[in-house]
Amino acid sequence: MSVPLLPITRPAIDEETIAAVCEVLRSGWITSGPKVQAFEAALSELCGGRPVRAFNSGTATLEVALRLAGVGAGDEVITTPLTWVATANVILEVGATPVLVDIDPATRNIDLEGIEAAITRRTRALLPVDLAGLPVDRDRLYAIADRHQLRVVEDAAQSIGASWNGKPIGSGGDFVSFSFHANKNLTTCEGGALVLPPDIDPALCERRRLQGVKRFADGSMDVDLLGGKFNLTDVAAAVGLGQLKHLHEFTARRRALARRYFARLDPRRGPNLGLDLPPADFSNCNWHMFQPLLPAGSDRGAFIAAMRDLGIGVGVHYPALHLFTLYRGLGFRAGQFPHAESVGARTVTLPLFPAMSDADVDRVCTALTRVLKP
Ligand SMILES: *Cc1c(COP(=O)(O)O)cnc(C)c1O
Repeated sequence: MSVPLLPITRPAIDEETIAAVCEVLRSGWITSGPKVQAFEAALSELCGGRPVRAFNSGTATLEVALRLAGVGAGDEVITTPLTWVATANVILEVGATPVLVDIDPATRNIDLEGIEAAITRRTRALLPVDLAGLPVDRDRLYAIADRHQLRVVEDAAQSIGASWNGKPIGSGGDFVSFSFHANKNLTTCEGGALVLPPDIDPALCERRRLQGVKRFADGSMDVDLLGGKFNLTDVAAAVGLGQLKHLHEFTARRRALARRYFARLDPRRGPNLGLDLPPADFSNCNWHMFQPLLPAGSDRGAFIAAMRDLGIGVGVHYPALHLFTLYRGLGFRAGQFPHAESVGARTVTLPLFPAMSDADVDRVCTALTRVLKP
């Protein structure tokens, strides 16, 4: 007996976008071209007119942002242990040292109190992450960065459509990096974008993006720095343009679904399942994910299997990254960041995506009640 699985997420691509992709494929120009430029212009509009450049992944976007921020060998970059491992991997990729600061259990984002104690003479940049789309406090973040003259690369991979003080994430701050991976709130299948601060020449960003090549009007070229191969295709940009039209509607729907989860899981109104619910923010957060914490000591593998048997997909985002073999090899160890370790061990991601129905949320909650047996 198999129940159709409700996945944790599913991209919402409309027919108009599919037609636009076909048009690009037929056009004869399928790699970076007019669609990428149009996508960058539309993203720039979302970000208050700031310059934006598109990339082929959020990881490439972060890596180039660090290079543009002048981060390299011998520098330290402060980030959180509770994020997708890409955030820390890019610090290693540019030859710098990741310095981790535990999370604030109330937000599950980097503990801003802890940042100042971690700053040394070698600290070059802060790399905060808006986990699950809940923005890090930008006022406190930039007060710290200004006080210590540090660059900031906002890993906003999960927070497009979210806001701070009523302004969209990306419209303020230093470097802001988005990801358009298939599971993100806005997708290009794979992709990313970097919002640039005023002191960075967009042309330099473009050279870092594509082999360091500088082209001249007479058709000649020069290469005077090393660049990667990080350009987005027009096919992907056509998907992004179609998605952008729905961003506000997607965010509103995600918020409504999250509210329904809170109402259904409120122990004052129903059985107490022993779950710790995520921070209940409905003004800033874009609800990229809905992540309760299982009771301490739960068997998460058994929980995931039991939910799956009832047709409900469950994900894990993320185990604390300092416990991965690569990072243990750099000297990190268990017990160093207890809050991140606890959340990382107990977190589960429940289905949440714009095309989900209210009844789907109810189905998830009914399954939770059966599996957790209060
Ligand atoms: C998705 C993600 C990335 C990387 O983005 P890709 O497009 O998958 O390369 C980086 N940081 C965070 C927090 C992410 O969620």
